[in-house]
Amino acid sequence: MSNELEHVHCLIIGSGPAGYTAAIYAARANLRPVLYQGIQPGGQLTITTEVENYPGYPDGVQGPEMMVEFEKQAKRMGTDIRYGLATNVDFSSRPFRVEVDEEKWILADSVIVSTGASAQWLGLESEQRLNGYGVSACAVCDGFFFKGKEVCIIGGGDTAAEEALYLSKICSTVHHFVRRGEFRASKVMQERVLNTPNIKVYWNTEVDEVLGEKTVQAVRVKNNRTGEKTVIPVSAYFVAIGHKPNSDIFKGWLEMDETGYIKTVPGSTRTNVEGVFAAGDVQDKTYRQAVTAAGSGCMAALDAERFLGTVAHQQAIPAAKAVG
Ligand SMILES: Cc1cc2nc3c(=O)[nH]c(=O)nc-3n(C[C@H](O)[C@H](O)[C@H](O)COP(=O)(O)OP(=O)(O)OC[C@H]3O[C@@H](n4cnc5c(N)ncnc54)[C@H](O)[C@@H]3O)c2cc1C
Repeated sequence: MSNELEHVHCLIIGSGPAGYTAAIYAARANLRPVLYQGIQPGGQLTITTEVENYPGYPDGVQGPEMMVEFEKQAKRMGTDIRYGLATNVDFSSRPFRVEVDEEKWILADSVIVSTGASAQWLGLESEQRLNGYGVSACAVCDGFFFKGKEVCIIGGGDTAAEEALYLSKICSTVHHFVRRGEFRASKVMQERVLNTPNIKVYWNTEVDEVLGEKTVQAVRVKNNRTGEKTVIPVSAYFVAIGHKPNSDIFKGWLEMDETGYIKTVPGSTRTNVEGVFAAGDVQDKTYRQAVTAAGSGCMAALDAERFLGTVAHQQAIPAAKAVG
């Protein structure tokens, strides 16, 4: 069977900062990495505009441009970069088996999972149209662009509370819309938000539309008890209703938390399956930054290199049992 299948040494799934950084390190370590880009080559940064907090770009850089540079560097080091989606995996034995585009299976001695996460949106047309022009799903990334301005944030959980507090230190007023009559956030976070003078909380309030032609100018909200609609002028709209890690195809093989974030051994990128590593946002619900994703991509390549060195002369042995 295995004779007919392509057999790669180091397979990288995902082409965001984590995947490309893993590729740069793996290629330089002569692991001959093959990288599948998925449906969003370049990852989440391709849907943003200016990135100002990635070191090495003193004047900032456009997200899509930066990811082209990552790709070029990975390619120049010798990574085999391919357009394709991993659609299924079988980690029951080594070499591992990964299905691409529901068409072909390939064998891999090691796998680096760097499939990222996707922000959840309310689903408004205006949200997508103004994405990157005042609409954002990342306050830490984009809050600074609205220094001294009025902004709004949507969400009632801990992330929304944390991001509202972050924005309150930069922006003049933070209008905080909560769909229910209470927060889901922890008590301590709720208190911090409610005690911050420039955060204005609106209960039972849902966003009806983000307004603005080229950039965000205002938001129209609706009180879901009274039906009353109000237009509030804001320069930015931050949505913080959760992220979904792109980990569905690994369910049953890799241990995850209740949201689907892949669990790694602290201080490493090792998963519960020896030889399978996870890097970037798919395993990180705390930091979710390009630089941390890139850092863990580097770790994954170094972990894979060590692993491959250790098993180099071993026979194929059973690798894992399905979990869950
Ligand atoms: C609007 C926005 C603005 C942001 N701005 C900043 C910023 O200014 N600074 C900053 O540091 N961070 C910013 N971030 C966060 C940053 O983009 C992420 O932390 C970072 O991209 C995570 O990198 P990653 O490699 O883990 O995953 P991602 O960038 O999410 O990439 C995941 C990759 O995996 C691929 N993939 C998924 N499933 C599969 C599959 N089954 N098979 C093959 N490939 C697959 C996708 O196609 C994609 O290429 C921003 C995020 C957003 C949404």
